[in-house]
Amino acid sequence: MTHHNINEELIKDVVEEVLGRLGHSSGDAAAKPAPAQSGNPAVAPSITTQTATGGRRFGVFQDARSACAAAAVAHEQLNEKGVDGRRRVIDIVKTLADKNSAEWGRIELEESGIGRLDHKIEKLKIIKLVPGVEFLHPEGMSGDHGITLEEYTPFGVIGAITPSTHSIPTISGNVVSMVAAGNAVVFNPHPGAKRCAVTAVRAYNEAIYRELGIENLICVIEEPTIESFKGICESDAVGLLCVTGGPGVVKAAMKTGKRAVCAGPGNPPVLVDETADINRAANGVVTGAAYDNNLLCIGEKEVFVLESVADSFMQSLEKNGGFRLNADQWSRLTKEVFTFKEGEGAGCPMPVLNKAMVGKDAVYLARIAGAAAPAGTEILFAETGADDAFVEEEQMMPVVPVVRVKSVEEGISAAKKAEHGFKHTSIIHSHDVSRMTAMARALKTTLFVKNGPSVAGLGIGGEGYLSYSIATPTGEGITNPKTFTRVRRCVMVDNLRIY
Ligand code: NAD
Repeated sequence: MTHHNINEELIKDVVEEVLGRLGHSSGDAAAKPAPAQSGNPAVAPSITTQTATGGRRFGVFQDARSACAAAAVAHEQLNEKGVDGRRRVIDIVKTLADKNSAEWGRIELEESGIGRLDHKIEKLKIIKLVPGVEFLHPEGMSGDHGITLEEYTPFGVIGAITPSTHSIPTISGNVVSMVAAGNAVVFNPHPGAKRCAVTAVRAYNEAIYRELGIENLICVIEEPTIESFKGICESDAVGLLCVTGGPGVVKAAMKTGKRAVCAGPGNPPVLVDETADINRAANGVVTGAAYDNNLLCIGEKEVFVLESVADSFMQSLEKNGGFRLNADQWSRLTKEVFTFKEGEGAGCPMPVLNKAMVGKDAVYLARIAGAAAPAGTEILFAETGADDAFVEEEQMMPVVPVVRVKSVEEGISAAKKAEHGFKHTSIIHSHDVSRMTAMARALKTTLFVKNGPSVAGLGIGGEGYLSYSIATPTGEGITNPKTFTRVRRCVMVDNLRIY
């Protein structure tokens, strides 16, 4: 920390202390004057960033129009602060996500009712693994005709939709990536996890305002609806959409006519062959499928295992925290988790997920199945057919169907079918490189993890960086600051070579 920063910190602390004694909340941010409004006449004059009671909004808005307009002003303000301003915002977000992880993890779990507290907390602590401004390097070219620079520049305001499965983590990770690229953002959070989203956004903006004088860099719609989603999509201030969710919202975003980075659904299959380290494979499957009760879109959802090692693999699952259900128990669980309706045309029953079961823990689900799993059980599993509903559907529960296959070819083909062409994530446990290559080529998934848990694909125990938005149908991959930039070329023509 520089002297300058230390002094600023001290002054801020003293002012806050005085204000506290006078009965003001630190949220008034009176320690600094209100920032100058943007010079952009298209966005500056019409918005009110103060509430009817005179308090500041700190990014929390009732309607899309005001949120997008406020974010446009904030984008201009961020621009004036340079790259250092972005860096400071990212520091604030990473620090607060870590500092508040226990509290925010708890409120998100209480509100959404899905997942596990230990992992909700961890998902916030690891926001520090999301890359920031250091990720962006301009591309330079020089030659006989002059010099050219390609810069990664901001879109301005990004409209973002976040899922119920990771509300504050997705918001926090998106903010790091988007602000690193110089953007402001307006979130339409999932209605099932909106209050925790508002809490985090307000805290981020309060701190950003205190530090940089920008009030609405991260905006959120307090009561998100399909209408507010449409409002964000239709706003002229919004240059890009980033959608993280299931097939419905991806489809809706793609219909808007605006460019959309879509982080869509998955149903990650795992293939285990006889060359694998079986205990390591089982440990990897349990680690990934148990993570936040399998809410992660990358989490292991079904396993195809070579016949010759199937029994030892299932025994290893038990040794690693898995609890085996018998056929009756599996059938009872299936009836609680799915309803079956006739499929269109084909005449085959299609499973429909009972969302009330999503993200529940293994002990609870075992009880539903009529089994008594011991406390601490990480996942439930059973041997099933390849057409089991738990194989077919992205069920987001710590429940793993295990399917015996006769050959690697059969396993790859079944894995491809189960993945439904989402091109999201797949996992192999094998020491045969040609089989790894064959599976990668067949499934074409965005993430392909070998000999580790799925979370290794996002930098948790594997190499690489973290993001909670993995853009699958639109092809941007694991999103990062570059994803949220426009590439602009700047050319200077002359004899400029220095050699
Ligand atoms: P969801 O699709 O129900 O909701 C996601 C978001 O979209 C929410 O904010 C919701 O309010 C909104 N939404 C849904 N339908 C909409 C519509 N027609 N128009 C406008 N907005 C709409 O998903 P969820 O249950 O919250 O999250 C789980 C899903 O998200 C899973 O399919 C999972 O794989 C996927 N997901 C993907 C990634 C990724 O990075 N690819 C990350 C997390 C979750």
